[in-house]
Amino acid sequence: MAVCSSCGRKTSDFVQFECSGCDNSINRCKECKSNEIPFTCVKCGFNGP
Ligand SMILES: [Zn+2]
Ligand SMILES: [Zn+2]
Repeated sequence: MAVCSSCGRKTSDFVQFECSGCDNSINRCKECKSNEIPFTCVKCGFNGP
């Protein structure tokens, strides 16, 4: 389980990738990925799709 960086919900169906601004790992749930919801990195504040 992980917390989605876009919607903040706990999900077991997610993708994990590295932030473009730092080395923080971003989790994004399947729903947010398919809807192309942007995420905000909690570490550096990077905003990205
Ligand atoms: Zn989500
Ligand atoms: Zn970052």
